[in-house]
Amino acid sequence: MSEDFYTVLAGGVGAAKFIQGLVRVVDPSKLKIIINTGDDIELFGLNICPDIDIITYSIAEVVDKEKGWGFENETFNCLSVLKNYYDYGWFNAGDKDLATHIYRTDLYHKGFTKAQITSKICKKLGVKADLIPMSNESVATYIETPLGKMHFEEYYIKHKCEPKILGISFRGSEKAKPVMGVIDYIKKAKRVIICPSNPIVSIGTILSVKDIKNTLSSVKDNVYAISPIIEGSAVKGPADKMLNFFGYEVSSVGVAKFYKEIIGHFIIDRKDQLLKPQIEELGIKTYCFDTLMTNIQKKENLARYVINL
Ligand code: GDP
Repeated sequence: MSEDFYTVLAGGVGAAKFIQGLVRVVDPSKLKIIINTGDDIELFGLNICPDIDIITYSIAEVVDKEKGWGFENETFNCLSVLKNYYDYGWFNAGDKDLATHIYRTDLYHKGFTKAQITSKICKKLGVKADLIPMSNESVATYIETPLGKMHFEEYYIKHKCEPKILGISFRGSEKAKPVMGVIDYIKKAKRVIICPSNPIVSIGTILSVKDIKNTLSSVKDNVYAISPIIEGSAVKGPADKMLNFFGYEVSSVGVAKFYKEIIGHFIIDRKDQLLKPQIEELGIKTYCFDTLMTNIQKKENLARYVINL
């Protein structure tokens, strides 16, 4: 029997755009949002959770709308001094953002788990949706490149995704357990929605946590994913390079093949409607809609469409 909530799998910027629409269509207190923590990193002695923060700030409507991450009207005074002390000046930690990292790290040292800390930050910022890190244990996405193995944030921000990808690994995922409740939230949801996030290093990382992938497979007829690829390229970020690295074609068909075992429904962009028969051949019901979320109305339209399918 399904319960009265929706479960959402999310990465960062792509997911946040969709979720901004979703909270206008569904009562936010009925959302269980399971978030990738593979991008989490410790810098300046602080615990930083980029995807959790992007989703939190977006729902709280304090996010920088242009960039899609960090606070709006941000300043970088602290970072300008931190750069003298550390080599991590490439990480764009704004002054307000640093306050979140300080609070999170303080709570961590007091013994709170990542899930408890996330819930406290959400309460303070007035976020009613239930934001849940995929795991309390540390998982870190590493990219192997000709320059060496580096944390995903270093590859993404410092190196602007330029180095060739030679390998992708999720350090710690074999020991990581889903946060309590996550498995039930997937099993009992009215509907499970996979945001238009990077399939490999946002959703793939969540799938690497014990039991999450199997549970999704067991309810796949109730799982709806939105493609992050439109007309053969990622809207933003390295999803195209990563699909390519794993031998998937860079298109909604490639993403559908990656998700084949865990989804029953797939929403692709109208511009890709000719791909629908190829995806349906995989046994996935496919729908076409305008998935490029360039303003709040389009985010809301897409969310309403997915909820009402
Ligand atoms: P990240 O961790 O900040 O990179 O965020 P995500 O993994 O959540 O999102 C990255 C993905 O979102 C990329 O693969 C983009 O192609 C996709 N994306 C971003 N904006 C849009 C959009 O407006 N529509 C669709 N369909 N995908 C988008």
